[in-house]
Amino acid sequence: VSPEGRPRVLFGDGSVGALPGVLRGLGVRRLLLITGSASFEASGAKAVLGPRLAGFTTERFSVSSPNPRLEDVGPAIGLFRDGGFDAVVGAGGGTAMDVAKLTATLGSQSEPAMEFIVHGRPLEPRRASLILLPTTAGTGSEVTRFAVVYIAGRKHSLDDPQVSADYAIVDPALTWSMPPALTASTGLDALSQAVEACWSVRSTDAARAYASAAVRLVLEHLEAACLAPTSPAREMLSLAALLSGRAIDIARTTGPHAMAYPLSMTFGVPHGHACALTLPEFLLLNSEITEASLTDGRGVAFVRDRIGDVLRALDVGDAGAGADRIRLLAQRCGLATRLSELGVAAADAERVLLGGFNAQRAANNPRRITPDVIRSIVQRIA
Ligand code: NAD
Repeated sequence: VSPEGRPRVLFGDGSVGALPGVLRGLGVRRLLLITGSASFEASGAKAVLGPRLAGFTTERFSVSSPNPRLEDVGPAIGLFRDGGFDAVVGAGGGTAMDVAKLTATLGSQSEPAMEFIVHGRPLEPRRASLILLPTTAGTGSEVTRFAVVYIAGRKHSLDDPQVSADYAIVDPALTWSMPPALTASTGLDALSQAVEACWSVRSTDAARAYASAAVRLVLEHLEAACLAPTSPAREMLSLAALLSGRAIDIARTTGPHAMAYPLSMTFGVPHGHACALTLPEFLLLNSEITEASLTDGRGVAFVRDRIGDVLRALDVGDAGAGADRIRLLAQRCGLATRLSELGVAAADAERVLLGGFNAQRAANNPRRITPDVIRSIVQRIA
């Protein structure tokens, strides 16, 4: 249980079978099930839950495309408002879980969605319970108080305690069906989130403790989970994702995530892979922190100590070795580490990033992200 008491977390192979008991405990009779379109079947969630949910009135809403836009969420919100549901269950990857969070919270408001997403108006309490079941091991969205949504091509976060689920049911067996590339991309999202939570201007001792544990778990288990998956490797990656979610719930993400969103939207690079492309470069750049480039009020020495935390978790002596370690892990898991390998021209990436990188996430980076920093990163990963 998080310090605020929610979400309560049930973790372990087979834990998805606990959902009906959780729903009964919450007094639920009618539930809106928000799932990935193919992943609900592929993950095995449908086979387990289908018969067990027979005693509840259930409607299903399928989410088909990644990076949810507000207009994609509108129909789910409409269904929620018309249906008198007393629970929303989100079962899927980060996309389906974010759509479930947005539906349960925005569907409970009387003001328009933009008031809360763009103008930061605090949310009224949800009118339904929210339960999240991840089928990927990476985002940690099951334990965070924010949801990502795109409006007119720009990434926004609905960030409010009401967005936190009541329960997170983390069943690593639901991730066994992930193919290697998805395992790699989602696992590197957990790694990136954890590293970023260590050096974020909002980092705390608690965030760094969660984050360091997550980094070590990803380093130890991701390659095996991609190349020769075992049940313990899958289990440890689900745990790493959960811990990285706990870490960013406190510290939020930074430079690599700020640059990942436009790369995903424009060039279709999967979210975690897009984060991993620039993570080694941000490790190098942030390790060269100076008074002039500092954004963290706690000072240059403090930021250097936080980079030290990252290097210890990566089990390396300096930032160069840390960057190599992250690149090598991505390569061993079969992912490209350069834009050219992805068919993306450096000039296109530079244009897209200069125009569309996420300022809110960039402001959490301990080193100021200027246009020159962006250009330099693009050159290094070209
Ligand atoms: P995703 O949810 O977009 O899913 C990617 C693909 O994997 C989809 O085609 C899906 O159907 C498939 N899939 C999911 N589970 C599967 C399984 N078990 N077997 C086979 N296929 C499966 O990917 P993701 O990386 O989990 O989520 C990324 C999204 O999460 C991004 O939109 C990102 O912004 C968001 N995110 C949110 C938070 C948060 O705290 N709110 C944190 C990190 C990321």
